[in-house]
Amino acid sequence: IPVDPFDLVIFGGTGDLAMRKLLPALFRRDADGQIPATARILGLARTDQDTESFKAEARAALHKHVAVDELDSIALERFIERLSYLHIDVTDARAWGELVSYLNERPEHIRVYYLAVGPALFGPIAQGLAQVGLATTKARLVVEKPLGHDLASAMTLNRELSSVFNEKSIYRIDHYLGKETVQNLMALRFANALFEPLWNANRIDHVQITASESLGVGTRGSYYDTAGAIRDMVQNHLVQLLCLLAMEPPYKFDADALRDEKLKVLRSLRPITGRNVLTNTVRGQYLAHGPDAPSYLQEVGNPDSKTESYVAIKAEIDNWRWSGVPFYLRTGKKLRAQMTEIAVVFKEPAHSVFGDLETPSMPNVLSIRLQPDEGLQLVIMTKDPGPGGFRLRAIPLDMTFAEGRGSNWRMPDAYERLLMDVVRGNQTLFMRGDEVEAAWRWIDPIIEAWEASGLRPEGYDPGSRGPIAAVEMMARDGRRWREIE
Ligand code: NAD
Repeated sequence: IPVDPFDLVIFGGTGDLAMRKLLPALFRRDADGQIPATARILGLARTDQDTESFKAEARAALHKHVAVDELDSIALERFIERLSYLHIDVTDARAWGELVSYLNERPEHIRVYYLAVGPALFGPIAQGLAQVGLATTKARLVVEKPLGHDLASAMTLNRELSSVFNEKSIYRIDHYLGKETVQNLMALRFANALFEPLWNANRIDHVQITASESLGVGTRGSYYDTAGAIRDMVQNHLVQLLCLLAMEPPYKFDADALRDEKLKVLRSLRPITGRNVLTNTVRGQYLAHGPDAPSYLQEVGNPDSKTESYVAIKAEIDNWRWSGVPFYLRTGKKLRAQMTEIAVVFKEPAHSVFGDLETPSMPNVLSIRLQPDEGLQLVIMTKDPGPGGFRLRAIPLDMTFAEGRGSNWRMPDAYERLLMDVVRGNQTLFMRGDEVEAAWRWIDPIIEAWEASGLRPEGYDPGSRGPIAAVEMMARDGRRWREIE
């Protein structure tokens, strides 16, 4: 279904996010016929170039990031024609005139301002837009992580943005929420009578949320060292996934109804403070592996850094539904494989009637994979077929929707969905300001307790499953981490 005509301004239009994610996503929506004929896309950055060279750069980026069979030449030319470029330094107050003239050519269009620039520019851009009268009620402002460095800075940022834009016009992206499989989790929970009665401490033993990366910090070292895994991944992505999994059913599938429920989960997270960080969290830093694989400390160029490239947290939700069910979160760099997964591990059957079989029963596991191979699986126990005896076998029930879609069906990228939702004015999959603050309220004390402990993160081998202490944390609870694969 086509969206209404819009003008999308990408502040930071020449950057990595714009070239690698935003333009390919917009191209795909355009090729699919969802973008109306008059819609325009404006790249804005401080790179001194004109529209022609921006178009050439965009074309090269599309060739690099979109598969050849998707790059229909007519669709590509139509998309490139939508692009324009403005060379503006947003810190220069005199620079905004050209943007005003460009947007005023189409006063009826919805205006979307995507801030694909560093967070230090979010406030100044919002102010700049307001000063030249571009912060209208029809406008939408899109921002992405990092949304603050701690609670205080997140509150400052929220104040800066809300002094110019109404909360209904602010779209805080967490692209994990745009993943089809994550939305499918909501369909699974709330469109089936089957799961909700099981979705609580009576039937669920624990939950594991893993975001494992195989690469190191690479060229992002200087930024990453000021953040670490907890700020870069847990405060936003992992906590958001936890919220969707743990929230109560919203009274309807509507932005505020859903976000109210997520906020309640965030407020129920048990604080991890003081010495509890020693038992409920593990930090790691990857070690070197020969001269070609430098350690975390070498890559960030700071031998004293205590910033973690790996973190595991045992989170607990103090409410009726989840009392006693741990949510284990872990994320790290230079691990065994690239994998993002939520696993809901159910309790064992109350009594094993097959007690003396060679093959022991395994708990049912619902796994929601975000990557690789986005999809949903429920592992159930069956009888291994054959006359040889009565053996049990765990088999996965595949609940992925690629099934039946034809061989060239492609799972849409999260940004495709999210960008169109911005134009449609649908905030369901975007974070509200109070959610971001509540997440920091839980994260800040953990970081403070780490700092107070004076301890260093534990070293782990690149390509491994992470620090030994994380395995021990699970073993103390009589549990094991899921394999990273
Ligand atoms: P980048 O350094 O590649 O690009 C920054 C862009 O901002 C460039 O186009 C640059 O010209 C422009 N810019 C900088 N200062 C400017 C100024 N004063 N006036 C006008 N334009 C200016 O950065 P990036 O990787 O694209 O990331 C941008 C933001 O998005 C960062 O905050 C980053 O943390 C966040 N982010 C990036 C990704 C990603 O995949 N790259 C993912 C999530 C969040």
